[in-house]
Amino acid sequence: MIERTLEQMTDMLGVECVKVFSKSAARDILIKGISTDTRTIRPGSLFVPLIGDHFDGHAYASEAYSKGAAAALWQDDHPHPPEGMPIIRVKDTLTALQQLAKSYRKQLPVRIVGITGSNGKTTTKDLVAAVLGSAFQVHKTKGNLNNHIGLPLTLLELEETTQFAVVEMGMSGRGEIELLSNLAEPEASIITMIGESHMLQLGSREEIARAKAEIVSGMPSSGLFVYNGDEPLIEQALAERGHDGLRRIRFGSGAGNDLFPTDIRMDADGAHFQINSPGYPELFIPLLGTHNVINALAAIAIGEAFGVSPEGIAAGLRSLQMTSMRIEKLTAASGLTVLNDAYNASPASMRAAIDLTEQLRGFGRKFLVLGDMLELGEHEEQFHRGIGAMLSPERVDYVFTFGRLGRFIADEAAQHFPKACVRAFDDKEQLAAELAAIAQAEDLVLVKGSRGMRLEHVVNVLLA
Ligand code: ATP
Ligand code: MG
Repeated sequence: MIERTLEQMTDMLGVECVKVFSKSAARDILIKGISTDTRTIRPGSLFVPLIGDHFDGHAYASEAYSKGAAAALWQDDHPHPPEGMPIIRVKDTLTALQQLAKSYRKQLPVRIVGITGSNGKTTTKDLVAAVLGSAFQVHKTKGNLNNHIGLPLTLLELEETTQFAVVEMGMSGRGEIELLSNLAEPEASIITMIGESHMLQLGSREEIARAKAEIVSGMPSSGLFVYNGDEPLIEQALAERGHDGLRRIRFGSGAGNDLFPTDIRMDADGAHFQINSPGYPELFIPLLGTHNVINALAAIAIGEAFGVSPEGIAAGLRSLQMTSMRIEKLTAASGLTVLNDAYNASPASMRAAIDLTEQLRGFGRKFLVLGDMLELGEHEEQFHRGIGAMLSPERVDYVFTFGRLGRFIADEAAQHFPKACVRAFDDKEQLAAELAAIAQAEDLVLVKGSRGMRLEHVVNVLLA
């Protein structure tokens, strides 16, 4: 963050500010950053105590002060600020954090790219930052800090030298992306794809698309909207909002898009591909899966629009720094290869991971270990059956499922697989033990399920 005095911060807070502890002293207090967490706080920070379901940050203000915080925000309904700590009283600390981020962003000439979508946000964020990073000074969302707290904190990290910020925007219901977009005011935005995550909260894919399309609400009317053209619901949701002035680029696998791959070749290190746009060398990303090639197209569209050369784009993609490998390829001491995608699962990401497993060459037998996909709402059974129905004994050898919903995948797969090759488990230990007993050195195992299923345990057993 570029330093601001406490007095400047009170101005930035506007009506959120109820009272400053001492107007004259506030002129001399320099704030070097913002922190909501005393475990990572740096000297000179403004401490923002947030109130959660199970904690109240105000209880940590003294600790923040003793660790060098220069001042704190203080929610007006809380009685006792720490003795001596400079504070700004505000109506609500969360709204105040968002307001600070909004004013700070408005003071900077930085150009912002906002990214939302059901899957692929973090990956695409890293890809866009890699492409722009070959020509510009770029800041990106750290990790997955994509919500109403993480986005303001990301904006407040921007420096004098930052030319572009690439920010991830996540949601679980209507109105959330709109809030984030209005804070960030992105000049360009991306919708990666529409899946079925958050079906429980939103009820239909149409409604999910509408929620994602809120990303245009904070954009200037001449902004750039980059979106997955394989998904008609995005265009439909945009049309409902009526943003005719936006420049649009459609990417996707289909040749009807402005940007599509003309050739894809996967090897163990990543994907080599060519695109329909003239002037490009063969491109490479150190990521597995056709879905990641599609994510890369969004990054290419952004790079082109902001004037990065084809060579710069190619170099950026090649040198991609991922936040964390989502589909991680691991090799056990025995030689067995494990694709660890236990981080999370939705129908679209599960299909993508299975696709990848089917495509990879040079392995013995292929095993799928699939856990429940959670939070899918009333059609959860149908989604799981859908996965089971798409599996083919010609492309994978064994299907092991874990959990109540996983059983529907197994049920469906059992219709067309040899009986012994499909197993449904309720006990993770037992699944891991049986799998470890049959899988051999040359085999390939995909492990995927929702976060709550904690399937990394199976990965650990296989690697041990
Ligand atoms: P989150 O909502 O957790 O922040 P995200 O949208 O940031 O997720 P990533 O972290 O990039 O998404 O990827 C999550 C999962 O989605 C991974 O398992 C990955 O394999 C899968 N995935 C990534 N991109 C796509 C895509 N375009 N289509 C389908 N699945 C995808
Ligand atoms: Mg993410």
